[in-house]
Amino acid sequence: MATYVSDFNPGKVNYDDAVAEVTDALSILGEDYIDTFKGILSSGHVDVYPNDTKTTGAFETQPSYDYLPWVLFNYNGYANDVSTIAHEMGHAMYDALTTANQPKQYRSPTIFTQEVASTTNELIYYNYKMSHASNDDEKLYYLQNALDLFTGTFFNQVLFAEFEDDFYRIVEAGGALDGEVLSDRYLELLNTYRGDTVISFPETKYRWADIPHFYYVYYVYQYATSISYAASITQGILNGEENAVENYLNFLKAGHSAAPQTLLSIAGVDPLNAETYHAAMDYFKGLVDEYERLVDIKIQNS
Ligand SMILES: [Zn+2]
Repeated sequence: MATYVSDFNPGKVNYDDAVAEVTDALSILGEDYIDTFKGILSSGHVDVYPNDTKTTGAFETQPSYDYLPWVLFNYNGYANDVSTIAHEMGHAMYDALTTANQPKQYRSPTIFTQEVASTTNELIYYNYKMSHASNDDEKLYYLQNALDLFTGTFFNQVLFAEFEDDFYRIVEAGGALDGEVLSDRYLELLNTYRGDTVISFPETKYRWADIPHFYYVYYVYQYATSISYAASITQGILNGEENAVENYLNFLKAGHSAAPQTLLSIAGVDPLNAETYHAAMDYFKGLVDEYERLVDIKIQNS
């Protein structure tokens, strides 16, 4: 659980109000998007509340192309439960739009572009909450959520990716993977990425063992790349750039009918150009600058 500089408490939001809020935030994507979005939410395919025997977390899946996607939440009314609706419904919309527009063989978007749909929705949602905040403290709260999303989805995942890459380098150089060697390397990376302003608990070096993605092959870097593309797409949409919404929807409708770089080019993103990642960092920097400005005001007023 994050510690907030803001004193704003969003309280608990009931599910219907949360859905209305996310729907309003995403209405910038146009009527067609919202029609399908509402169609999924009212399809009976959304399992909303936790219970004693239900699996934890949240996810989206499409068991059959003949039906709309299925979504699982464990909705408790907290702020992160509301942003989870935006995230998982991003995946559901990607599947639904792809299914409606592609032949079967191209209907499963690959993991390389999958998180673009979910994190774009989250960034749009946080922007909506910031622009609808009734005071600076409320804005600061949602600004921190947006920064945390970026930290968790970009910087942490780049660290994880570098760590994962080391596994293969060690083995390819004739070495063996040993728990302590990996843990020491993980701690070294934590210290490099976090600098000397964050102190890690001694046990933190074992955290890698609990991250299931390391047992797949090169998975984590795709979160970092996806949120970089999402930042570009979100900026284009929010700045009202010509055809930004239409291009993004065409990307969502394209499934995996082409190579990822071709698909992303439909949304105006070039994954092979370093400038794409610099632009994502500029977006993050803009959030940090605004955060600093609001924190300074808060300190002066206290
Ligand atoms: Zn996701």
